Amino acid sequence: MSVDFQVLLYYLFVRLDDPESIAEEQRSWGQELGLKGRIIVAEEGINGTVSGPREAAQEYMRRMASHPSFSATEFKIDDHDGHVFRRLSVKVRPEIVTLGETVDVAADTGTHLSPADFRAKLDDPDALILDIRNDYEYEMGRFRGAVRPPVETFKEFPAWLREQFAEAKNRPVLTYCTGGIRCEKLTAFLRREGFEEVYQLHGGIMTYAKDPEVRGEGFEGDCFMFDDRLSVPVGPPVSKCEKCGEASSRYVNCANVDCNRLYFLCEACETAHGLACSEACAASVRTRLRNARLAPLLRADGKRLRQRRHRAKVRARTTESEQPHTI
Ligand SMILES: [Zn+2]
Ligand SMILES: [Zn+2]
Repeated sequence: MSVDFQVLLYYLFVRLDDPESIAEEQRSWGQELGLKGRIIVAEEGINGTVSGPREAAQEYMRRMASHPSFSATEFKIDDHDGHVFRRLSVKVRPEIVTLGETVDVAADTGTHLSPADFRAKLDDPDALILDIRNDYEYEMGRFRGAVRPPVETFKEFPAWLREQFAEAKNRPVLTYCTGGIRCEKLTAFLRREGFEEVYQLHGGIMTYAKDPEVRGEGFEGDCFMFDDRLSVPVGPPVSKCEKCGEASSRYVNCANVDCNRLYFLCEACETAHGLACSEACAASVRTRLRNARLAPLLRADGKRLRQRRHRAKVRARTTESEQPHTI
């Protein structure tokens, strides 16, 4: 496999007075350098994942390092054999990651822990380890002993934590996410709510996986990625093919477009039985013919995907008796 491309994952909380002109500059750099990916700019900073030929990725990082606003940006860098996005999208949004709460990251964010310090804290029996990602990310892989609150979206964490987590205010709380950005905001929220000891994994799972000292220890399964890679392996597999039970972190959407349920299915079982998640779904008329895996849907519209998944879940709950979702 040639590794002539690099994937960059990064964010920086920094006050930007004119996000529109920053977005314009990012767009022209991206076009000039041949980068693809997603960049979000807001008054609170920048958040991006981009892929490009190695030289282009290096040049992008050089430009960021000498930019008056972005010199402090830390990049998580992965080698890859091609682009992991189809196009470049640069958008201005109210937040670089949507929590829906006004928090002061600079003043309140939780203590950053290096992978080694985070690893050590995982052994504290008093510590609450909080996975603040989506359920489908958690199901693919997570830190041993981590709790994932039963909420649908990142925006719902604050209300849940406020109501259900209040008794934990004097216990150490450890949060983690893919690259660290969600932790920056959520730990700022926790501290503002009066949680005394709040820690976040610096650089997220991506940094933890590569750290030469911890090498992913304590993490089980793969890390979900919001790009064509879908996942990168970190620890021993935890997810299993729903049909044969073999270890698999291969997410597919059910062939029945009205179900569209996201589930683990190994390649052999797809070849043998197709993409339908149940016999009822296999008999459905409105099926897709080929594997339309998760990434294109997320690319097209993450919100619509979540709504569909939510509707599928509601349907599954209401029709559970006559429509089994596993074979
Ligand atoms: Zn299988
Ligand atoms: Zn189905």
